[in-house]
Amino acid sequence: MAMTISFHGAARTVTGSCLEVEVGGKRILLDCGLFQGTRSIEALNQEPFAFDPAGIDAVVLSHAHIDHCGLLPKLAAQGYAGPIWCTPETVDLLEYMLADAGRIQEYEAERRNRRRDRAGEEPFEPLYTEADAMTAWRLARPVMLDEWFEPAEGIRTRLWNAGHILGAASIEVEGGGVRMMFSADIGPDNKAFLPQPQGGAGFDHVICEATYGDRARSRVTMEERRELLAAVIDETLGRGGNLVIPAFALERTQELLLDIATLSGNGRIGPAMVFVDSPLANRATGVFRKYVRGLQDTAGRDVFAHPSIHYVHDASESMRLNSLSGAIIIAASGMCEAGRIRHHLLHNLPRRESTILFVGFQAGGSLGRVIQEGARRVRISGQEVAVRAQIRSIDSYSAHADQGELLDWMRDRGPVSGSLFLDHGEEQAALELGRLAKAAQLAPSVIVPEIGERYELQAGTPAKRLATGRPDLRRVMARDWQNDYADLATNLKQKLGRINDPDARREAIAAMQRVLDSYGKA
Ligand SMILES: [Zn+2]
Repeated sequence: MAMTISFHGAARTVTGSCLEVEVGGKRILLDCGLFQGTRSIEALNQEPFAFDPAGIDAVVLSHAHIDHCGLLPKLAAQGYAGPIWCTPETVDLLEYMLADAGRIQEYEAERRNRRRDRAGEEPFEPLYTEADAMTAWRLARPVMLDEWFEPAEGIRTRLWNAGHILGAASIEVEGGGVRMMFSADIGPDNKAFLPQPQGGAGFDHVICEATYGDRARSRVTMEERRELLAAVIDETLGRGGNLVIPAFALERTQELLLDIATLSGNGRIGPAMVFVDSPLANRATGVFRKYVRGLQDTAGRDVFAHPSIHYVHDASESMRLNSLSGAIIIAASGMCEAGRIRHHLLHNLPRRESTILFVGFQAGGSLGRVIQEGARRVRISGQEVAVRAQIRSIDSYSAHADQGELLDWMRDRGPVSGSLFLDHGEEQAALELGRLAKAAQLAPSVIVPEIGERYELQAGTPAKRLATGRPDLRRVMARDWQNDYADLATNLKQKLGRINDPDARREAIAAMQRVLDSYGKA
């Protein structure tokens, strides 16, 4: 007897988490996530599944982030009707996260079809609809942490707290005489609301994420982080401006509310009006409130009911915030690409007394990144806006373990008698973490898998590769030209501006033009 695993996503890339586990003809999926990022990576969402959806016996889901659950609606629409096992918190968050994802897919298809219509092309079908999303959500079944269950005959699983976001779990799998651990996303040591990640020890095989496999963060305690936030609040409200914070709706928004409620509760900041302006964040906060008794760092109180926090419900109420001064406005999306944050930027970027505070990663090419890097003018919804507001960043909010914390997590799962796989990380990050894991002798074999690879797992011996990865995906997974282009375009004007002599500036532009033309001739 043995266990076979197949990597269908999140290998040498950070999204599309999906691992197929097969024991004695029974098949389960650990996660079924959406690919996100560049256009060529997102194109993978349109491909047929590498397995028959109707042939899957069960899904075990680690958490409600879209890159782990965002293809469940497609799976259900294509014939999967079995249970989706996850923690009760994840069941609740999943309803809103999937519905939101369905609406985004419908909106995106509509937008593309407006263009296609003009060009006389065939209409583009949405990847899935909000109705598909709800069909998938109805398959969700709650299971508590630390409790063994049998998703399919001959396969036992148990969920462990991953310390990543509310409800997030690592998944232990036993079957075919093999003990295996799938980390999914692991949280950092200093994470609000959640205890340290756990996961048992002494596995045959371990699959560990590598998102920050090549990065060590400076360790900032929760108190130090709150002090940084308090300073930004003080300086902004002291000037009479608004503090506008673009934030992810799930977890980051609630961490900010916890920090603000704590600072306000101990008198560190004066009374401030806080507006949470994102329908998805409001719904996610509702789930946090439902489980608030089990959350750490809240001193046993419902911090989300703090009297200074106001939840904005409809769009007209959101628009009324435009005439305010001296308020803290938390809105999505986190990278300023969509959502209500855009009109708050439109109204606050030109105001010298306001501050835009970034508390999350801004991908290259996103509006958030452009503002963060000091652009003097930006375009929002077709309008040119001058940036006069103060731009600040606090980079110590994170839901992911860094390099040292990932190594600690892997060490705690030891001794590993077979193979250690590093997935869910850009190639460079996974390879670097793999090098360190090998040097620390964390397992007899260390593998950085590729999408499409299949392995046979036996107890006490390194994994055997049964199928190789897809060579066509190697280029897709590598940083593609659109990333490089976005970085170049973001900095181009600034770099040209640094050339003092106008003639030299024109010569630089002409030289770039010559380089591009030379490719046209080839
Ligand atoms: Zn996650």
